[in-house]
Amino acid sequence: MKIKWNRSETIALAKESCAHCHGLGLRDSIGRNGSEAPCNCVLRKIFRLCYARFRYCLEKEKHITQARLAVIGGRDRRQVWGRRDEEYIADFTLVSRRYLDDSQYQLFKFHFLLGADWKLCCRRLNMNRGTFFHEVYRIQQKLGRVYRELEPYALFPLDEYFGGTCRKEIAPEALKVLRMPMDDRRRRALRPPVRKVA
Ligand SMILES: [Zn+2]
Repeated sequence: MKIKWNRSETIALAKESCAHCHGLGLRDSIGRNGSEAPCNCVLRKIFRLCYARFRYCLEKEKHITQARLAVIGGRDRRQVWGRRDEEYIADFTLVSRRYLDDSQYQLFKFHFLLGADWKLCCRRLNMNRGTFFHEVYRIQQKLGRVYRELEPYALFPLDEYFGGTCRKEIAPEALKVLRMPMDDRRRRALRPPVRKVA
């Protein structure tokens, strides 16, 4: 992973009161490839933002009724914003599964995917509160980095992932213009099945 981190990005994500980076988001140590290393508070923040978006997409999915889809109509429009959300949900889940080891994934699944609170998780996974939160931190840091550094298509920044096309109010013509590069960077299998010539 050769992605570079810079201060203008990390400063916006860092925790102001962080004892390690003092709100700058970078650590004193230099990373393996000579670039600066992000502070753990930045990585956790990235995780939380991606996770919040994941929850949001799930909620949205739940509330889209058949009737509403019919109203939105128009094959292009619906495909664009519906598909991106579904794709994000799948990417978030699959990427997390791939980069966590089995015991980390157990915790991730119970706590973040199934929503079990710490008490339930501790009982189920047979760990104490301290260990639980320590593990949660480690998972957040690990995944935060993965979401940001993943190649070729990172999950974070979210506005890049969604390519600015998640707003359904966009005029159809504008949508088409925005959509082309986006389709190119996605996997072939996820392309819309229909591409009509105007
Ligand atoms: Zn920090």
